[in-house]
Amino acid sequence: MNRKDADIIYEDLYELMERVREKYTLAGFLSVVHSVTILKTALEKQIAKKSIKKPRTHSGGSLCPTCNKIYFNDEIVPNYCNGCGQRLLID
Ligand SMILES: [Zn+2]
Repeated sequence: MNRKDADIIYEDLYELMERVREKYTLAGFLSVVHSVTILKTALEKQIAKKSIKKPRTHSGGSLCPTCNKIYFNDEIVPNYCNGCGQRLLID
């Protein structure tokens, strides 16, 4: 998943939401908005982000760019953060 793919999906989701808004009750529309919000959060975590390297003066390691979980060994930064599920870009 990359930013371009995600943006295409968002455009489709927003178009679908417009159609839902026209045809559904307010409660039904709000339910769909809630689901789209959850989908967007999950989708954003599939776009790989580079971990943030801490300066060696602060005991080294890397941080998850989304939740700031600290990985103390740069050699074993996982593909996904086990704190929040963010996909991590490995150098
Ligand atoms: Zn994280």
